[in-house]
Amino acid sequence: MERQTIWHPCTQMKDLEQYGLIRAHSGKGIYIYDEQGKSYIDAVSSWWVNLFGHANPRIARAIAEQASQLEHVIFAGVTHEPARRLADRLVDLMPEDISRVFFADNGSAAVECAMKMSYGYRRNTGQAERNRFVYLTNGYHGETLGALSLCGEDLYTELYGPIMPRNIRAQGPDCFRCPYGRTRDDCACECFEHMERILEEQASEITAVMVEPLAQFAGGFKFYPPLYLKKLRECTARHGVHLILDEIATGFGRTGTMFAMEQAGITPDLVCVSKGVTSGTLPLSAVLTTDEIYGAFYADYTEMKAFLHSHSYTGNPLACAAAVETLNIFRDDDVINVNRAKAAHLRKAVEARFAGHPNVGEIRSLGFICAVELVSDPATKEPFDWKARTGYQIYRKAVERGALLRNLGDVVYFLPPYVITEEQIDELADIAIASVTDVLGE
Ligand code: PMP
Repeated sequence: MERQTIWHPCTQMKDLEQYGLIRAHSGKGIYIYDEQGKSYIDAVSSWWVNLFGHANPRIARAIAEQASQLEHVIFAGVTHEPARRLADRLVDLMPEDISRVFFADNGSAAVECAMKMSYGYRRNTGQAERNRFVYLTNGYHGETLGALSLCGEDLYTELYGPIMPRNIRAQGPDCFRCPYGRTRDDCACECFEHMERILEEQASEITAVMVEPLAQFAGGFKFYPPLYLKKLRECTARHGVHLILDEIATGFGRTGTMFAMEQAGITPDLVCVSKGVTSGTLPLSAVLTTDEIYGAFYADYTEMKAFLHSHSYTGNPLACAAAVETLNIFRDDDVINVNRAKAAHLRKAVEARFAGHPNVGEIRSLGFICAVELVSDPATKEPFDWKARTGYQIYRKAVERGALLRNLGDVVYFLPPYVITEEQIDELADIAIASVTDVLGE
């Protein structure tokens, strides 16, 4: 018996008694190959990070060249060209008022930084009583305790309630089961009333609102209209509350624009980016913010206003070099425009196979994401009993058939690397519908 010393993430380890692990050996483009040479389409871009395929030669070269020059260096009191270039490029992609970049090394760490910057701003400007954050139902911002305290999905938080900071949960949009009986294309975001009420009644104790713009990923690929963000920006500004956009999953083209916020035409106070920034090769994240927030920390040292926050691998040169090359690919290959036709094909391929299935509640897409919510009865939108683990069974079947097509509850989703071809999209959609019929019948 092989030793099992590794405790895998987001996994009930007992499941491994029944289902083994994929033993990844190599990757190329959209495929992962196991030690026996069997291929799997990486339909989820390895947790939403990969943009330009595994073992991408351009990014591999950029990392290798950087590794032979300077692999890492402390980032306090030291700077380097890959970080400087990346910071300038990121700022150039942001709305005009976003001008400062703070590097961290994973998404959750960026969320923690943004929270501390928002509250640090309050402390440094005499508003220490504004010490709470507002977040949305179905939102997700990471696993560390601060980030988890902004998670609107009980599955992830329930166990840890007693050790998390207490923040304020606002009922957010739920377009598939809209309580106002409206549709995504025909609504005035009536659901904003919940957030509006909280901000009206409690603004004096609130420092910031944190949301995933347009698409709540881990909460079940729930998409909501840009109008909600417009209202949120207007209302937070009116009450002097910061707006923090978590673009960790939505950023770098995933929702059809470079950043989701562009579709609402808003400027937040703080933005978190990570995941796709290195095209899924190395961990890196950043918080981008305004001169106003930056300025609140800028003072003589003895005023004790500095942002004394650090991570060992902050601004890692290899990761920064990978990120600069990622942005070069966006520019050289006109990725945002080229993606449009492929994303439309993805939607069509999924619709063609799934629309007639009796358990399809909704097929929804946004940019380069397509998600199918499976229900026990589409007429009532009644979900399956969660204990049946329907989505999980489908995932298992898809793995057997050669696709890493993960589920979130009973939502099966397609979020492949952008380098996927139309033929490969068709192949993936074929595997997906076959896996669904394996589990649920025709
Ligand atoms: N925010 C969002 C929107 C995410 O999807 C994730 C990761 N799934 C995170 C934050 C946390 O990032 P990380 O896993 O790198 O800590």
